[in-house]
Amino acid sequence: MRLWNGWGDDKVTYPLPAGAVRALAAWVGPGVPPRDAAWEDVLAAVPPSRLPAHPLVSTEPAGRLRHARGQSLPDWVALRSGRIAAFPDGVAYPSDAAGVRDLLRYAAAVGARVIPYGGGTSVVGHVNPLPGADPVLTVDLGRMNALLGMDEASGLATFGAGVAGPDMEAALRAHGCTLGHFPQSFEYSTLGGWIATRGSGQQSLYYGRIERLFAGGRLEAPAGTLVLPPFPASAAGPDLRELVLGSEGRLGLLTEATVRVTPLPEREEFVGLFFPDFGRGCDAVRQILQARLPLAMLRLSTAPETATTLALAGHERLLGALEQLLAVRGLGPDKCMLILGCTGRRAVVHAARGEALGIARRHGGVYVGPTFGRQWHKSRFRTPYLRNTLWEMGYAIDTLETATAWANVPRMIAAVEGALRAALEAAGERTHIFTHLSHLYPYGSSLYTTYLFRLAPDPEETLHRWQQMKAAASRAIVDCGGTISHQHGVGIDHAPYLEAEKGALGMGVIRELCAFLDPGGVMNPGKMV
Ligand SMILES: Cc1cc2nc3c(=O)[nH]c(=O)nc-3n(C[C@H](O)[C@H](O)[C@H](O)COP(=O)(O)OP(=O)(O)OC[C@H]3O[C@@H](n4cnc5c(N)ncnc54)[C@H](O)[C@@H]3O)c2cc1C
Repeated sequence: MRLWNGWGDDKVTYPLPAGAVRALAAWVGPGVPPRDAAWEDVLAAVPPSRLPAHPLVSTEPAGRLRHARGQSLPDWVALRSGRIAAFPDGVAYPSDAAGVRDLLRYAAAVGARVIPYGGGTSVVGHVNPLPGADPVLTVDLGRMNALLGMDEASGLATFGAGVAGPDMEAALRAHGCTLGHFPQSFEYSTLGGWIATRGSGQQSLYYGRIERLFAGGRLEAPAGTLVLPPFPASAAGPDLRELVLGSEGRLGLLTEATVRVTPLPEREEFVGLFFPDFGRGCDAVRQILQARLPLAMLRLSTAPETATTLALAGHERLLGALEQLLAVRGLGPDKCMLILGCTGRRAVVHAARGEALGIARRHGGVYVGPTFGRQWHKSRFRTPYLRNTLWEMGYAIDTLETATAWANVPRMIAAVEGALRAALEAAGERTHIFTHLSHLYPYGSSLYTTYLFRLAPDPEETLHRWQQMKAAASRAIVDCGGTISHQHGVGIDHAPYLEAEKGALGMGVIRELCAFLDPGGVMNPGKMV
């Protein structure tokens, strides 16, 4: 069963090797396991619903508690401490577009605010009800998860927008296809959520971000139904798909989406390399990208992230042998790891990998074979379970991300990491911080920073520490000329920084768009703008 106050399936565990436990204590100090609130106690605190009865709406407390928060760090603090400021008054589970329209009419009649809910994996507060006088209706699209149509000749598949990653890929596999969108939250996140947050999968270099995969669909807005035909291309004025991408539930509910699928690849390979330092790694990946090789993934870790990955891996004999090999080749403590992925036809994979390794070697890259790449691929959806283990040991872990031009990458990493570190030093605590380049483009890169710190004895203090760090890092991103989000979206946590990149006029356009499709302002208010 899915955990109500953590990540994932309650039967999956992620024990840490002894060396990793020692490393954590050395990085930030020993953790003190927190006393988490019990399910029964939090359930008993769910207030009575303010919604009148409707056949599609459940007001039972367990469902309302399970839909109260997403997966951001403030969400974790709220769920684990039981201090949850607001709950949805009801959760609806429609199974078709007619049901969704009926719910919108009901919400208008009873004065309720509406939150579309996919998999609830948002990490920026997208799905959280905000305290207020109006009742809140969360609409869970999980029952709208069927494959509705398949045009194999054109590589177009139409799904109910509530389909989760594994169900979608299983349905496509039966037709010999894949969408190729693999966010780390793949297990639970949904097609509608990917589109509404403008997300990015780990192999976006090959398959594209969701904006390239989203061909069309149907949005039920309070003002009516917006139908987006899946043209291969069109010059008929502005592309209305762009309005729905990243709309974060503010414009309406996406009930179905047509996506561009690809035949299952003949071959997929993930291999590991090490560079003497981050600068040379960056030079190599930039040249690889600018050569436009058909690769699926490049993931370049900084030296601290490389050291952290190796420390958490636990295989001490294997790692000892690796260190020796790299030392012989002149790589020391500044070494940086690159995972390189190739996907597609066998001959193309072979040629692309050969070309990429050739460029890497010219920048001092040392190829260490498929072990690290395979291990990354095997555990890529398991890594989030580490959050549960760390929390239970007394540590919080969070991530933040941005994207910027290549010339700005080193300055951005220094600014974000520096801001995080300084913000917690004020509380007399240490952070462990590391970064990798996760989605790379010929003209720039996304940066993905992870920061780990100790839980405070009081959950309010943990939240306060996080707020200080998040604000400092977000300000650093904006000041350094990065986007406030490359893939997680805006939600609540990034909303104060949006105007810095959109400008006053741009914010006005977004507000007018919301007001046009949702004149009553009922759709997910308080998020994004
Ligand atoms: C461990 C972990 C790893 C992650 N890794 C990645 C990653 O690799 N790449 C990435 O891009 N993101 C990642 N995320 C963030 C998150 O998974 C994405 O934002 C995801 O796209 C959210 O999908 P969801 O279905 O869970 O949406 P939800 O969290 O349920 O909703 C997110 C937003 O979308 C809106 N929405 C959802 N469905 C619809 C719909 N049908 N119609 C209209 N609006 C809708 C909601 O109202 C809300 O505003 C990760 C999160 C976690 C917890």
